[in-house]
Amino acid sequence: MNCETKQINLSTPICLIELSSCTRGLHSIKRRIRLESLEQEKTISTNQLIPCYRLDETLMFDKNKYPDSLLQAIHWFRQYFSNDGQPDLDVYDLMEKSQLLCPQIQLTDFAHKTYLQLLKNVRYGQRSTYGELSEMVMGNNRGARAIGTAMKNNPLMIMIPCHRLVQKSGNIGKYGGEEDSMKQWLLDHEQDNDRNQPERKKQREF
Ligand SMILES: [Zn+2]
Repeated sequence: MNCETKQINLSTPICLIELSSCTRGLHSIKRRIRLESLEQEKTISTNQLIPCYRLDETLMFDKNKYPDSLLQAIHWFRQYFSNDGQPDLDVYDLMEKSQLLCPQIQLTDFAHKTYLQLLKNVRYGQRSTYGELSEMVMGNNRGARAIGTAMKNNPLMIMIPCHRLVQKSGNIGKYGGEEDSMKQWLLDHEQDNDRNQPERKKQREF
């Protein structure tokens, strides 16, 4: 069964994000343009076939024109890029019930399990390592490389928070298989806005 997908680009503080969804669930969330190229963004986005919106513009969307899962993801991103901490939508719950991705997007069992453990155990504002996640998924730390591959193939960038996995040494490591300043931005953003860390905020005020 072929899906009829709807696509939009979201202009966020760090990059242009392309979301694709059908009525059965999300197909993909990926970055179109990286932070370093933000200058070119306006030219590129006006040339694109996929319409581009600012986060606040999506508030005016006609709800009948878009699949629910797309609207839900857009809402999630509006909250994510606000300074209010973790978005309300429970992505883990949707993933567990197989209501997040369109069934057409097939994940390996390992990837599915990995994303679930990541969503469940490494929450907004937190970090973990590839080895630790391997421990959670397989019961030992020998799967770090396989975890890395699953992260690289993450179909839903940011929403499935592969950016929260860092190296054992404390270095933030690669993002989507590359060196990338966006990963640091996301980690900093979450730490600054984590509602569960009032002490940190208090310390900063002094
Ligand atoms: Zn679909």
